[in-house]
Amino acid sequence: MKTIGITTTVPIEVLLAAGYSVIDLNNLFITSKAHMEYIDIAERDGFPKSSCAWIKGIYGACLKHAIQEVVGVMEGDCSNTGCLVEVLKMRGIKIYPFSYPCSHKLQDVKASIQRFMQTFDVTLAEVEKVRTRLNKIRKLGKRLDKSTYIDKKVTGFENHLYQLCMSDFNGDVDKFECELHTKLLEIQGRQPVSSKLRLGYIGVPPMTGDLYEYVTKFNAGFVYNEVQREFAFPRADKALNIYQQYYDYTYPYDLTFRLEQIQKQVKQRSLDGIIHYTQAFCHRAIEDIVIKQTLNIPVLNIEGDKLNVLDSRTKLRIEAFLDMLLDYKEVTG
Ligand code: SF4
Repeated sequence: MKTIGITTTVPIEVLLAAGYSVIDLNNLFITSKAHMEYIDIAERDGFPKSSCAWIKGIYGACLKHAIQEVVGVMEGDCSNTGCLVEVLKMRGIKIYPFSYPCSHKLQDVKASIQRFMQTFDVTLAEVEKVRTRLNKIRKLGKRLDKSTYIDKKVTGFENHLYQLCMSDFNGDVDKFECELHTKLLEIQGRQPVSSKLRLGYIGVPPMTGDLYEYVTKFNAGFVYNEVQREFAFPRADKALNIYQQYYDYTYPYDLTFRLEQIQKQVKQRSLDGIIHYTQAFCHRAIEDIVIKQTLNIPVLNIEGDKLNVLDSRTKLRIEAFLDMLLDYKEVTG
């Protein structure tokens, strides 16, 4: 089976219908024990120190794993992807562009996905058949999410990990479905674990996965992972077709649309506070201004760079934030 890398979530249904095995290069990078090696590959090839670690990691992972074909999202994701794909092209990698139109009009999303289908020579019927198959697995993802914020049986890290993996179904749809079934069975047998503070995580997935474990020291736990949940398409079953599904995906479009969904989840999950993660040298850090202004809930912005563990200063800031939330909760009951 041919393998294709993706730089972020794309209509994977099209690629699977075309017979590809799909690998999310972000996941390949961050789950590797040698993640620093991937960053080093990029820096040796000339990527500046002052560029985002994810971009460098994606590049390194692509070269290290000899990926020959990549879908680059040129609009709606990262302002650096355009330059990244130019370098990948120079290295002989075949690039297929995809765009989430900034107009966020259904007809434009439809036209973009239709172009994508033409590129890979697949029909709408073939794509919809794959979508039906994937939606069964997405339903399992929703169960796992509900077991996090309702049943309190799933940890914040597990919630993050399994939903994140749904951007590429870990490169093997059947195997991933099986794993998810087994996990859900194991979860059923667990006792609920309650934390005093219910946290939300928003922003790009963290480089620092230890964040989830760290907050538990302060009687807190994450019950919402914003972007990871979007990767798992929790509203896909309500979409009439693939066009609507990717129209209703918040991450690539404007912040107002994204914030509407976040606000809904803040209420539904009774969150006490939010940690907004941003990556050093990422344009999305500027969004923090609008996020803090709009959300009616305490928000702490933390920033990660190349390290895959929290640094001492960030730990201290998180501790102070959680202390403040705990005090507030005690006072307000
Ligand atoms: S963190 Fe920001 S700069 Fe880095 S890849 Fe993601 S969107 Fe691009």
